[in-house]
Amino acid sequence: MQFEWTAEQRAIRTRFEALGKRLAQHASDAAEKAPGPFAWQAFSAERLWHILIPAAHGGDSLGWWEFAAAFEGLASEIRSTALMMSVASQAGFIYALLSYGSEEQQKKYFHRLLSGAVSATAISERVTGTNFQSLQTRLTTDADGYTLSGSKYNISNAPTADVILVIAKLTEQTKEHVALVLLDQGAAGLSCAAPDSKLGNADLPTGAMTFESIGIARENILGPISAGARNLMEIASIMRIFFALATACVITPYLRSALHFASVRQGRSLPLNAHQYVQKKLVDIKIGLERTKWLSYAGLSQLLAKNPEALVTCSIAKIVGAEDISNGALELLKLYGSDGYQTGEISRFVTDALGFLSAGGTEEMHRNSIFGQLTRIAKAA
Ligand SMILES: Cc1cc2nc3c(=O)[nH]c(=O)nc-3n(C[C@H](O)[C@H](O)[C@H](O)COP(=O)(O)OP(=O)(O)OC[C@H]3O[C@@H](n4cnc5c(N)ncnc54)[C@H](O)[C@@H]3O)c2cc1C
Repeated sequence: MQFEWTAEQRAIRTRFEALGKRLAQHASDAAEKAPGPFAWQAFSAERLWHILIPAAHGGDSLGWWEFAAAFEGLASEIRSTALMMSVASQAGFIYALLSYGSEEQQKKYFHRLLSGAVSATAISERVTGTNFQSLQTRLTTDADGYTLSGSKYNISNAPTADVILVIAKLTEQTKEHVALVLLDQGAAGLSCAAPDSKLGNADLPTGAMTFESIGIARENILGPISAGARNLMEIASIMRIFFALATACVITPYLRSALHFASVRQGRSLPLNAHQYVQKKLVDIKIGLERTKWLSYAGLSQLLAKNPEALVTCSIAKIVGAEDISNGALELLKLYGSDGYQTGEISRFVTDALGFLSAGGTEEMHRNSIFGQLTRIAKAA
């Protein structure tokens, strides 16, 4: 178990903090432009994905803690929940390829990701949400391989992704399996809808996609189909960890600004920060971000060690993180009074933060999943 960054990890964290600052500055200088493509190029230029990708495929073979250090540095300065959701989602895609990808799949996709390709992971469906037990997107067997039919909605980066990991159901000899399918943008039969119009997270294009009898070669199936459900849980769990770490870190610069604001703004002849009610708001934000950050480290440590408790910890981190960033954002809005309610950084942060209540799975879904895990662990004991 790790409680302190190594000198090398600290240096990575600092390097990505600097990138986060540059990207935040770029977004505020060019408010009318979408920062997404610019940021995506900067991630590649700063070798963010190289950290995870093996040297044999052109990466730097560093590892998950080094990536967590980079992620934390970036998230602590970037002031964009949308971009950090994108990075968390792509980390999940890389985890899937590292863990279950064949040599050919790794060769094909790692090279593209290093050059700036964007991935999407498509689980959610209009009827079933993210309950993958009842997914309606189907993979059927045919003479040449498989056929994929169905649809997904609300998928991060769907309108712009170069490659999509599609989660589908497959019935083989009356047994239901979860299949992980690698699909390239431009495949015949794939259509992606225009980006959704959302309350917040404008820099994260989300959207629906439809699969109309798409032919899928056997080499596009990721990992053994018999282990698809278990593998999907691991992929979802690593994403949850990085969603949680994002919630813990993205609020940091807002807290810093709020501490300054509370020290200079007068309330009843004293600075605001002299009032204990105001201090409580700021302290509660700090408590929230620390508990989520440490839960994220615990989840990552357990997941990498294949600890059976990992899925529970990852879900707890996701629930707590979404709650803390949403409550923290509302506390900031209250602290800034009517200025906070103006169109601007604070009100935007509130609408962005609320996205974590459903992105990465709702609280109810995670509680169901924790209960299921608890029951399984108790039975096995
Ligand atoms: C910004 C953003 C990015 C996203 N990116 C992705 C992505 O990249 N890939 C992806 O697959 N999905 C993505 N999603 C979708 C997200 O994962 C789902 O929105 C979320 O899991 C909830 O599913 P749903 O919206 O269909 O809600 P529903 O499943 O319809 O649920 C509606 C409400 O009912 C509750 N509920 C549902 N079932 C139960 C139950 N059994 N017990 C108790 N309560 C229940 C839910 O908690 C929720 O409150 C994204 C969402 C957002 C907002």
